[in-house]
Amino acid sequence: MGVRVGVLSLQGDVGEHVLAFERALAASSTGGRSPSVVPVRHAEQIPDLDALAIPGGESTTLSRLIERNGMYRPLAEFDGGVFATCAGMVLVATGAGDPRVRTLGLVEMRVERNAFGRQAESHEACLDVAGLAEPFRAVFIRAPVALDIGPGVEVLARVPRGIVAVREGRHMAFAFHPELAGDLRLHRLFLENLGV
Ligand code: GLN
Repeated sequence: MGVRVGVLSLQGDVGEHVLAFERALAASSTGGRSPSVVPVRHAEQIPDLDALAIPGGESTTLSRLIERNGMYRPLAEFDGGVFATCAGMVLVATGAGDPRVRTLGLVEMRVERNAFGRQAESHEACLDVAGLAEPFRAVFIRAPVALDIGPGVEVLARVPRGIVAVREGRHMAFAFHPELAGDLRLHRLFLENLGV
């Protein structure tokens, strides 16, 4: 059996994440013909996964749904790799400065939600990302930034406003949306980091 990737399916752009990981796995050596990317709606599914994508959406809503579905503990204790984007990056942090968001503490960083202000609801930028030979076209939608990071956190990309991509051990978090870019290099980098 190949690697099992889940996509947290409570809210947000779940379909794009499933598709992007199916494609990234199909292109990797062990993905072969039977990559398994599963929507995750129940707490019991989480411990069986090798990796989990936490999509963008609204981190306050996602946090509430995580609590309501009894998923907080299994997520906070998850020992596979997490691929977190935008609202997902807010959730995996150790602090978000917003009492409506109970962060999971998987990546040691403090984030600021909606860090680019109202005049920049969404924008694109060409980013240099550590580990990629060519810049990545990043789509930002009401994106957070990381302000402080712990000593074990590697900065993968930053913009003048702050840090927008990080890795800590098996986990990666992006303030932007790699699943919308039509470019699977960050998914592959994540899978390679897991040894897939
Ligand atoms: N602003 C949202 C939040 O803080 C994130 C937006 C997104 O995921 N595209 O939850």
